[in-house]
Amino acid sequence: MIIYKTAEEIELMREAALVVSKTLGEVAKILKPGITGLQLDKIAEECIRDQGAIPGFLGLYDFPKTLCISPNTEVVHGIPNDKPFESGDIVSVDCGAILNGFYGDHAYTFEVGEVAEEIKQLLKITKECLYKGIEATHGGNRLSDIGFAIQQHAEAHGYGVVRELVGHGLGRTMHEEPHVPNYGKRGRGKKIKNGLTIAIEPMINMGTEKIKHLSDGWSILTADGLSSAHFEHDVAVVDGKPDILSTFDYIYEALGQK
Ligand code: MG
Ligand code: MG
Repeated sequence: MIIYKTAEEIELMREAALVVSKTLGEVAKILKPGITGLQLDKIAEECIRDQGAIPGFLGLYDFPKTLCISPNTEVVHGIPNDKPFESGDIVSVDCGAILNGFYGDHAYTFEVGEVAEEIKQLLKITKECLYKGIEATHGGNRLSDIGFAIQQHAEAHGYGVVRELVGHGLGRTMHEEPHVPNYGKRGRGKKIKNGLTIAIEPMINMGTEKIKHLSDGWSILTADGLSSAHFEHDVAVVDGKPDILSTFDYIYEALGQK
């Protein structure tokens, strides 16, 4: 069952989402060659707790850390470790926080140092896919129109759209109905209505859409060893239109991009 939120609940969710946005901004400030995932994780946990919130991933389904950190060929769900990032890496950082009893959950794929042009292009298109999905999240559309928009854009550039992992409803629990796949046919599934709150999160691979699981029980990798990118926003439907609850502005500010 989809749990539609009231206007008041959506504002509480916006606050939770912004805890994550600010935390990703702090990550952006320090993510450079030589930094490790464990260092990012520590900063992120402190940042979340300093805002009066609780890390949303820590302990969820027994996940051991605050951040999911997935570099290069890892798609999502990587566990932070002590291996320093190197120039040329890309790093998906996914973060969750609980505030006001609601979850925020969003993600950004960062460039470390100098990244190859073809990888930059993968990041650009994956971020565009996220916004194409968000644009499709409006009254008059159905849920599958989101995935349709994402898939069209990714495949037009020859990329693979991961099938096994999908976006999701978000609220007082981290994963609510509905599933929000990043692929699909037009006009299927439930109608998009006011009060819908979802995390839209395209996971786009440079090569095959196929994935494999690492033996740590968490990390997901591309099957062909090519790079993968991941961007995620929390979105509510208000007055028939998408309202993005999270923001990348703190990241852009930290990176000097705004
Ligand atoms: Mg996430
Ligand atoms: Mg999510």
